[in-house]
Amino acid sequence: MPWLQYVAEFIFPDGISIGVALNHFMMPDDPLLTPVQYLKGVGPNRAELLQKLGLRTAHDVLFNLPRDYLDLTVVKTVSQFEEGQSQTVRGTVVDLDGRELSRNRTLSAVLLDCDGDYLRGVWFNQPWVLRKFQPGDMVLFSGKLKRGGGRWEISHPTVTPLSAEDAEAGGGILPIYRLTEGLTMHAMRHIVRQAVENYAPFVAEDLPEKFRDYSKLIGIGDALRGVHFPNDQTERDTARRRIVFEDLLEFQIGLALKRRLRTRQPAAPRLPATTKIDARIRRLFPFALTDGQNAAIAEIVRDLESGNAMHRLLQADVGAGKTAVAIYAMLVAVAAGQQAVFMAPTELLAVQHWATIESILAHSRVNRLLLTGNLTAAQRKQALSDIAAGNVQLVVGTQAVIQKDVQFHRLGLVVIDEQHKFGVMQRAHFSAGTQIPHVLVMTATPIPRSLCLTQFGDLDLSLIADMPPGRRKVTTSRVSSPAARQKAWEFIRKKLKSGRQAYVVCPRVQSDVEDSGESDAAAEAVYEQLRQNELRGFRLGLVHGQMDRERKAAAMDAFRNGATQAIISTTVVEVGVDVPNATLMVVYEAQQFGLSQLHQLRGRIARGNFDGYCFLFSQTDNPDAVARLQALERTASGFDIAEADFELRGPGDVLGTRQHGGMPLRVADLTVDGALLNDARDVAFKLVDSGRIDEPDYAPLKSHVLERFSEQMDLVGSG
Ligand code: ADP
Ligand code: MG
Repeated sequence: MPWLQYVAEFIFPDGISIGVALNHFMMPDDPLLTPVQYLKGVGPNRAELLQKLGLRTAHDVLFNLPRDYLDLTVVKTVSQFEEGQSQTVRGTVVDLDGRELSRNRTLSAVLLDCDGDYLRGVWFNQPWVLRKFQPGDMVLFSGKLKRGGGRWEISHPTVTPLSAEDAEAGGGILPIYRLTEGLTMHAMRHIVRQAVENYAPFVAEDLPEKFRDYSKLIGIGDALRGVHFPNDQTERDTARRRIVFEDLLEFQIGLALKRRLRTRQPAAPRLPATTKIDARIRRLFPFALTDGQNAAIAEIVRDLESGNAMHRLLQADVGAGKTAVAIYAMLVAVAAGQQAVFMAPTELLAVQHWATIESILAHSRVNRLLLTGNLTAAQRKQALSDIAAGNVQLVVGTQAVIQKDVQFHRLGLVVIDEQHKFGVMQRAHFSAGTQIPHVLVMTATPIPRSLCLTQFGDLDLSLIADMPPGRRKVTTSRVSSPAARQKAWEFIRKKLKSGRQAYVVCPRVQSDVEDSGESDAAAEAVYEQLRQNELRGFRLGLVHGQMDRERKAAAMDAFRNGATQAIISTTVVEVGVDVPNATLMVVYEAQQFGLSQLHQLRGRIARGNFDGYCFLFSQTDNPDAVARLQALERTASGFDIAEADFELRGPGDVLGTRQHGGMPLRVADLTVDGALLNDARDVAFKLVDSGRIDEPDYAPLKSHVLERFSEQMDLVGSG
């Protein structure tokens, strides 16, 4: 009742009296839905701050888990200090000291009083660290203890500031919450403590006792107390495990229900791949399929023949040959008298895939059509009527184009090349006529397993683990100094002269005005720079997303047929571009890209008969960024890189899920809870497949799942 609150505020501008006034007639039936404003220790002002953090009700506060903990139980006293050991100490800042040791070497020191004994933290060449300290501050220093000049010392310690409240809290494990300006940690802890005391008892237990015993999960009330205010690390971990497990379990039950619903759908067309059909399809390929491709095809064929709609995800490293597998599946559909459609995420990719499909089908009689945005109205009308009449058997286009208003005659198979852009929530909805088509989703690059089980958890999974034979090696080098850059360019000029081609990839199209000083890595500026300097006299092209369709296509064509020797671009070349003669790649400001993205990019230059060379330009000395780029120098497996990227950057960055409203999980963190995810998935699918989820014991759990996911996952009919 926002209007009521508005009126009340209007009448009583004094926060407290509003709270009291509203309290009387705004209490909801379920105490957990009590607005934060009426929690102890919260008035209208703090309520607003809590809402900024997304916390609206008592329930929200209870389930807003600490993002970290301050564990004062590990703090050592002076008598426990041990030389050479990594330890955490606590003290009060008494002195700051910064000096220049030599022309380009500085020493900064912070002296702590640790209960009467002194300890020094020292930093070399980081003069700014001193700005973080004031005499009188309470801090924790962690690091390796050394005895220097009769005094304890830690070099480059990890610093944890202790607020006055942290310090007063004495010992134990203190929860750390996300905060917003105006809300102190002290206030937040107080609010949560009150909420735990007053509202945790109202949180209903969703998991039957039998189930909890079996899975070794504590009750929800204890878990909430233990996760916010644990007495020790074991208690904290047990508590967190219970809450995270339920979060993952609910999500996986949602996925399992979604899968179950699908098996109850009307039958999908049976698309048999007889020996004769198989032989006819294989003859079209100019190569023998790899073991990995054959294994994936076998799984797909089983689905297509089954009479149940296929929902399968095909994962493979870049260049493993997914397109051939997709073509095989589409031809099986066509052979059975059905239509097949291939949907690419961008127009450029649709055109690329079209070219591949054309080259394979050159001598076949399959009627096929490229449906793009640049057909004239008349052409489009004709195309749509051909598709609706069933005259066209195979359609290639972008997801946007095909989803809009295309009516199929008999759509038997949909291939979605989704480049990670669609998760389980946003998968294509299209008009398939009256029958249910089979669906094959392809990812452009491997996804870490735990992410796969969430984003694509309702799909069956096929993996191509090998590569076509003769795949060329790509040597990846991080290039940090100007001198090394010059050498890289020299190497590239030599290769260009011998007939090879190069991609130059930039993180941006245009110069960022805000971005002063740094070398300019905008595609347009790099193009000019290279034209006048490093690549003067070579034929250069420029392509980026802000160009119109024709200019983009013209630039790509010129590169493909060798008219241009090097193409300067943004990441539009990321996926699908196939120019076997291009063996060189330079990535400007490589640290700005994700690992998987860089891996994807370098996949462009191992397509022909020559080894590839990928130069990652980056001047950063940020240790994390350097470590990431080194991972690329070291490993060639996209699957390993996906896992590394995930560990380093988290799920949002890997999948680009940020733009899509984030992960559907509330408290679980897939970067640390991967093992728990596997357990939860197992249990969830067992509960659903055995039908136990429909028994009264599990009614609360199931209704929670439906409440959370029925809309997003389209679970209508699961109740
Ligand atoms: P992906 O989409 O998995 O990155 P593509 O389907 O684009 O890979 O295939 C990469 C390249 O490998 C293409 O040029 C394709 O013609 C070729 N290719 C695919 N399968 C084979 C195979 N079994 N043997 C030889 N070359 C293959
Ligand atoms: Mg491909």
